[in-house]
Amino acid sequence: KKRIAVMTSGGDAPGMNSAVRAVIRTAIHRGCEAYAVYEGYEGLVRGGDYIREMTWGDVRGYLSIGGTSIGTARCARFREREGRLEAAKNMIEAGIDGLIVCGGDGSLTGADLFRAEWPSLIAELAEKGHITKELAEEHKHLYICGLVGSIDNDMSSTDATIGAYSSLDRICEMVDYIDATAQSHSRAFVIEVMGRHCGWLALMAGIATGADYVFIPEKPPKKEGWSDQMVSIVKRHRERGMRKTIVIVAEGAIDNELRPITPEMVKDVLVDLGLDTRITTLGHVQRGGTAVAFDRLLGTLQGVDAVDAILSATPETPSPMIGIIENKIVRRNLVEAVALTKSVAEAIEAKDFTKAMNLRDSEFCE
Ligand code: ADP
Repeated sequence: KKRIAVMTSGGDAPGMNSAVRAVIRTAIHRGCEAYAVYEGYEGLVRGGDYIREMTWGDVRGYLSIGGTSIGTARCARFREREGRLEAAKNMIEAGIDGLIVCGGDGSLTGADLFRAEWPSLIAELAEKGHITKELAEEHKHLYICGLVGSIDNDMSSTDATIGAYSSLDRICEMVDYIDATAQSHSRAFVIEVMGRHCGWLALMAGIATGADYVFIPEKPPKKEGWSDQMVSIVKRHRERGMRKTIVIVAEGAIDNELRPITPEMVKDVLVDLGLDTRITTLGHVQRGGTAVAFDRLLGTLQGVDAVDAILSATPETPSPMIGIIENKIVRRNLVEAVALTKSVAEAIEAKDFTKAMNLRDSEFCE
């Protein structure tokens, strides 16, 4: 019987539980033994009770629970070969040969590295006498599959990451609340939203709430006069009788010299315009709460496909990442997806914003 394990890693995201549930139940349904690795790579490195067999009933109710019930963590030891060696030993002791990782690009980079290193890790373990030659032979291939769990929607090769739409929904709800008080007091609000180096949440929230202006990393304003366009738009809206002003700032917002544009800077400009201005940093409410229906579906459909991808993998197949493109669940090359994601950050660092926009699924930037 094949043993398939699932883990969640990096920042938590609503919908991760749906993915875990789908993996566990699909694995069981396909006649495999299903395992969960608790606390991300930390659990893999620690082994023992962190790697547990799961039954059908263990994931009951998971669809409507936010965050990730099997825990997640950031694990420095897994970044070192020693940590990965320990993780390999624990995987072999638990008899696991297929690992499904649900996390962001960091977690998926780690997963890919683990697979690439696997033969040499196994050889070292056998050489040191930690595992028998028979076990080494039996487990000479590791099959990895990536699921993208992240509120930021910052991964290339997929239209949506698990958690992004839940977060977007929460942000819109919060902006609606703020709208009421802005409207009542005729105030301006500068709202900072998450997203790391990706402006998807900020831009989509801006469109969905009808914000006056949005700052995102992929399309920065000029260094000099960075606020000119915002000022003229805000002025125009006020002249037309709008009582409220909402400006959304992505946490990674920058100008074209890569200098951060902070909510404080935006506030100062609005105050100079004579507006009574407040800053609201939404913070971790953006990750909390239960997943919206879309993320439950995404986690479920992708979790099912992840198990099937592992079951149909051969030593020659590159590790897949499950994505969704134009409403279809698709498998993409994990290494290429991670590389493409990194090249967006590199393009921004090189101040080649046109390239960054083209790389970042251009439909959201144009
Ligand atoms: P996310 O997956 O949300 O991007 P991180 O970047 O913090 O979050 O990555 C989560 C974990 O994945 C890290 O704590 C580390 O254990 C592992 N990881 C990330 N990058 C690497 C890497 N280059 N090599 C090995 N492990 C990594």
